[in-house]
Amino acid sequence: MLPYATIHDAEAALGRSLSTAETLWFNYSATKSDYILYCHNIIFLLLIFSLFPFYYLFLEYFFTNSVAPFKIQPKVKLSFSDTLRCYKSVMRMFFLVVGPLQLISYPSILIIGIRTGLPLPSLWEIALQLGVYFLVEDYTNYWVHRFLHCKWGYEKIHKVHHEYTAPIGFAAPYAHWAEILILGIPSFLGPAMVPGHMITFWLWMALRQIEAIEIHSGHDFPWSPTKYIPFYGGPDYHDYHHYVGGQSQSNFASVFTYCDYIYATDKGYRYQKKVLLQQREGLKTKNGETGLLHDHIAQTHKEE
Ligand SMILES: [Zn+2]
Ligand SMILES: [Zn+2]
Repeated sequence: MLPYATIHDAEAALGRSLSTAETLWFNYSATKSDYILYCHNIIFLLLIFSLFPFYYLFLEYFFTNSVAPFKIQPKVKLSFSDTLRCYKSVMRMFFLVVGPLQLISYPSILIIGIRTGLPLPSLWEIALQLGVYFLVEDYTNYWVHRFLHCKWGYEKIHKVHHEYTAPIGFAAPYAHWAEILILGIPSFLGPAMVPGHMITFWLWMALRQIEAIEIHSGHDFPWSPTKYIPFYGGPDYHDYHHYVGGQSQSNFASVFTYCDYIYATDKGYRYQKKVLLQQREGLKTKNGETGLLHDHIAQTHKEE
């Protein structure tokens, strides 16, 4: 809740006029408690988990031929009932774990110092903080994910997320409840290290989930704006991790490729990509197909 009764009071306190964005923020947040503002994340996540995977589903069902060349595992097509089952499971976990976690984690926001007041952060400040959050999350998530692939972690927890060997957008948050809790820590570390404004925190939560949905979408669209992000892994990168499955010791990183490169957990993937590039033209001629990407990659992997 803002400590100003009117816009005039806010302008007097800041010693300048409010920008348009600040006026909008004042009008929206002045009478809302910080707890209510924090809990907006529940609504945002609910919408993101529902709408963004639906975008990929919509394209696959209604523009099948147009998006077919970009489907990573073209042989696999989940039925509508399987997709619905995945969504229902994600929603059950959302209302049992994700939502309640948001409701009770507000004190942590107070401790780290997420602010809700004026002035609003500049776009540069927001962009830099988001960059830090993504880097911190990527690095810590890499090691947590790698731990989840040890025998105990996989059998007890991570196996659930790997039920989908050809992932879909709805399967991005599909995981054991313990994994949802554990992976909340890497997401929280960045804001804890470099606390910012609530708007930055909302954006962080939203963008991280949208990114997770993209890499599980099963489609590698060339028009995705993420193609312009340096060292970004993308859908093909994480799809390979799911395709190889439980034995996968490759492509652990959630966002970028540098961790797998530094710790040499992408060697198999890189090698297969190289082989695939060399043989793609040959396969096109032989089979008349451009897909079958992972089949070919995995076959070569097994023969290593
Ligand atoms: Zn995994
Ligand atoms: Zn995954």
